[in-house]
This record gives sequence, C-alpha cells and structure tokens, in this order.
Amino acid sequence: MHTEREELGKVYLVGAGPGDPGLMTLKGKGLLECADVVIYDALVSSAILMMINPQAEKIHAGKRRGRHSLIQEEITQLLIEKARDNTIVVRLKGGDPFVFGRGGEEMADLVKAGVPVEVVPGITSGIAAPAYAGIPLTHRSYSSSVTFVTGHEAAGKYSPVVNWQAIAHGSETIVIYMGIHNLPHIIEQLHAAGLSLETPIALVRWGTRPEQEELTGTLATIAAQMEAKEFSAPAIAVIGKVVKMHEILSSCRPLGKIDMAHVTEVIN
Ligand code: SAH
Repeated sequence: MHTEREELGKVYLVGAGPGDPGLMTLKGKGLLECADVVIYDALVSSAILMMINPQAEKIHAGKRRGRHSLIQEEITQLLIEKARDNTIVVRLKGGDPFVFGRGGEEMADLVKAGVPVEVVPGITSGIAAPAYAGIPLTHRSYSSSVTFVTGHEAAGKYSPVVNWQAIAHGSETIVIYMGIHNLPHIIEQLHAAGLSLETPIALVRWGTRPEQEELTGTLATIAAQMEAKEFSAPAIAVIGKVVKMHEILSSCRPLGKIDMAHVTEVIN
C-alpha cells in the first residue's frame, strides 16, 4: 500500500545548458549525480544525460510541437507525485529554465501545490550558440544592447504577441529563439519597421554541439540560403552588426567537441 511520507522531496529546476557538457554548472551536475528522479526535455544533450546517477529513474518528458499545454500539465502533475516519494527530483531543461523554457510557469504550479522547489540557472542557447559561432552579443563598436525574443508567437504559443516594430528599434542586437519556421515573416515585419535588408544575420543550429552548423547572410539573402541548405530547427538567429565579428572570430571558436580530460590536464 502507498504510504505518504511526512515530508515532501524537493524539485530542482535545472538548466542543462545548450549541449556541450563542459557548459553545465557544477551545481546542476552535482544534483544530477545524486538525483532520485530526473525528468528531462527533448533538447537536453546525451552528454548531459550521461551525468545522471545510474540508479536514478529517468523520464523523458519530450515536448511535441502542438501538444505543448496538455503535456505541460502532465509534467507538473508528475513532478508533484515524484516529490511525494523521493528526496531529490530534478527537472532538467535545455539552456536556462527561465528563458523560453516554461520554468516560471512550472515553478509557480509547484509553489501553489506546496512542493519545495529551487531553480538552478543554465547557460542559455541565445548566448552560447552565438558565442561558439564567434559572435559576441555586445561590442563597443557595434552594439550596446541585446533583445531576446521568441519567434514562435505567431503560433499562439506566447502572448502578448511580439511587437516587432518596437523590437526593430529597441536594440542593436536581436536574438531570436524558435524563429526558424517563422523567419521570412519575422524579416518582413522587421523590414516593415524600418530595419535595412542589408542588416547582417547569422543562424546557429545545434550550437555548442559537435554537429553545430552556421549560416550567415543579410536579411535580404537568408531565406533563400536557408532553403538551399535545408537549414532547420533548433537554431538561434542573431541579427545586427555584431554578426560581422563572425568573420574574425569564428576561426578560433570552440568546436563543440571539447576534450575535458585535456582541459583538466592543461589547467593542472
Ligand atoms: N530554455 C532554452 C530555450 C528553449 S526554447 C534556452 O535557454 O536555451 C527552444 C529554442 O531554443 C529552440 O527552438 C532554439 O531556437 C533554441 N535552442 C536550444 N538549444 C539550442 C542549441 N543548442 N543551438 C541553437 N539553438 C538552440
């Protein structure tokens, strides 16, 4: 018979970073190593999943396009149930849990249910993918401000709907998550708001992973380039003059495959 424990376990909302295992935080790694249960999303890399305590129960909460909200409720329910029977429950999300990761919503539901919960930030793909492509988001000559925005609002996933007019003029660098399917529409909106079609843009797919791919062009050329290369999600789009730095810096970027044993050797 199921006997409820007096004390609830704790749910840790952990950011797994963009993929390269070297970019996982020490706090997050420590939690994975002693977790009783880990519930993880589709974008968490296999290298990170290898850090999980072999005795832990692993549950893939795979979010499928279109079925997001229903599954989200199920995930929250699952977290509440698991916290009843376990001490350390890790909810592992790609990048940072609070950046387009529904972490805020999930955490609020857990708080409402009386479940102890804590967030462990991760490196968000919007910063890491451009960095690994040799694109700094700010630069004294090109940009003193950055906007992070979702390109998925057209599908009704986010509200209020993005004000592209304001975004176009709001900052020098624009970083778009989930924007690949909708990119031609986004470019149209930005151009209508007055952004030049000569503005540089870069797309970084599977950033920080061995399979990282990049595409650079301008707002005028990128749609055709994407089609020619069959470039698909998941990718980050970076728009702005900072993209010019790609030419200079991409040659010395980390290649995604970092040999941690070698790094340790060098450090010691
Ligand atoms: N919480 C995540 C974002 C989740 S939204 C974070 O902080 O990174 C999912 C979107 O993130 C994808 O559609 C894609 O735009 C972006 N993304 C996630 N991982 C990525 C990666 N390794 N490379 C490029 N883009 C990535």
